[in-house]
Amino acid sequence: MADLPAARYVPLTIAGDEATLTGQQRELIGRVAELGPGWAARAARHDREASFPHENFAELRAAGLLGIAVPRDHGGLGADFTTHALVSAEMGRWCGATALAFNMHVSCCQWSGLVADALQMTAAERAEHGRIRALHYARIVGEGQLYAQAASEGGPAAAGAAPWATSARRVDGGYVVNGRKVFASLAGAAQWYGVPCTLERPGHEGRGTRRDALYLAVPADAPGLEIHGEWDALGMRATASRNLRFRDVFVPDEARLLPEGLYHQAAARFPHMFSTLAPTYVGIAQAAYDFTVQYLRAEVPGMPHVLRRMYPTKQFAVAEMRIKLEATRALFLQCAREARVDPDKDARMRLYAAHHAVMENAHEICRLAVRTCGGQGMLKSLPLERLFRDSRCGSLMLPWTAELCLDRLGRECLYEAGEGDEQIEA
Ligand SMILES: Cc1cc2nc3c(=O)[nH]c(=O)nc-3n(C[C@H](O)[C@H](O)[C@H](O)COP(=O)(O)OP(=O)(O)OC[C@H]3O[C@@H](n4cnc5c(N)ncnc54)[C@H](O)[C@@H]3O)c2cc1C
Repeated sequence: MADLPAARYVPLTIAGDEATLTGQQRELIGRVAELGPGWAARAARHDREASFPHENFAELRAAGLLGIAVPRDHGGLGADFTTHALVSAEMGRWCGATALAFNMHVSCCQWSGLVADALQMTAAERAEHGRIRALHYARIVGEGQLYAQAASEGGPAAAGAAPWATSARRVDGGYVVNGRKVFASLAGAAQWYGVPCTLERPGHEGRGTRRDALYLAVPADAPGLEIHGEWDALGMRATASRNLRFRDVFVPDEARLLPEGLYHQAAARFPHMFSTLAPTYVGIAQAAYDFTVQYLRAEVPGMPHVLRRMYPTKQFAVAEMRIKLEATRALFLQCAREARVDPDKDARMRLYAAHHAVMENAHEICRLAVRTCGGQGMLKSLPLERLFRDSRCGSLMLPWTAELCLDRLGRECLYEAGEGDEQIEA
């Protein structure tokens, strides 16, 4: 009797169940899966050098994926929120830094696209927004330009606890921007920086509130814009998340990614946008699980054929990883599919829970993977130690760090809208 071919582990689809995917989701995930092995092969070098993966973005450009969230009537793929989340997670399983940086680019399209479409605007505002975003989308779809998302300032604003310290002053034909941003992924690689700032009202300079937030796209070559500082971090080293300084940077009216006054409404009414960092880490968790199974089955290319799967301790550990992965994915998918304007309180609370679970469990799954695969599994020649370091970054990212998710969720568990302790004490 002929020998049966050796069975090999076939990694799961990122959605868990392929049958739940739409045609577009299957097609776009497939496009990323074709590019992925090349990214994985380059990931160690970019991680070691802390260099930006320009080649991966050239491939994304060639595959038409830069316009994933650009509406179809502007020549993009018009992917909805869920589709982008799934595609982004697929990216994360091949190269976390590419997925995270790509997400910053896509965020600019989503805020000005699917989120703006769901907001209240006057007819004049909508027409003007349509005119302006068409210019931005043409640069992305037609010229393959990249947009970064430079929000964090190293102070309380990115946590939603204060107005943006970066200011925009109205002048003839546009705005003058002053301030600084930290950790802007794609620094030096992007042609545009999406910059939330505070619009200064004449006579109220320095006294703006969060309602005065204005979201501008600043061109990388604008006089007065400087990229500075190094990016030599624990993980996500290929994101090139350096700092930006704006000194009297003029941008025209067409820089607005949302009409004046709309950013605050967008942030308050579409909280799922703050969880778009999570899919990257779902992908990392999946990659750590897949690696562990392959390692224990002695199927990692280039590794000696040493089987480890028969030890109960390994089986328990991998079962624990699978349980965490399944729970994390289920919550992530539910929230991605619930994304909409004005989610109710339960959906918002579930979203905080999902974001926390993804970020913490991704690192926990990587920790278990390192522990389970053992010493030879953590060598720099293998991807696991990079996954472990990259996975640590998710919980540190504002506005929804793990701490802030707990803070918001705990408060919402115990207080109803408008409720204060005096009502309980009375
Ligand atoms: C890999 C990576 C890529 C990044 N890319 C980008 C990017 O492209 N664009 C961008 O804008 N930012 C980016 N960031 C920055 C990120 O979103 C955070 O701003 C940054 O990690 C915050 O670091 P910090 O120590 O300065 O935070 P701090 O503001 O000093 O906060 C430290 C911790 O205190 C807690 N905290 C803060 N404020 C409050 C509060 N009001 N109440 C309770 N607790 C609070 C939080 O848990 C927080 O983690 C990136 C970060 C990483 C790690």
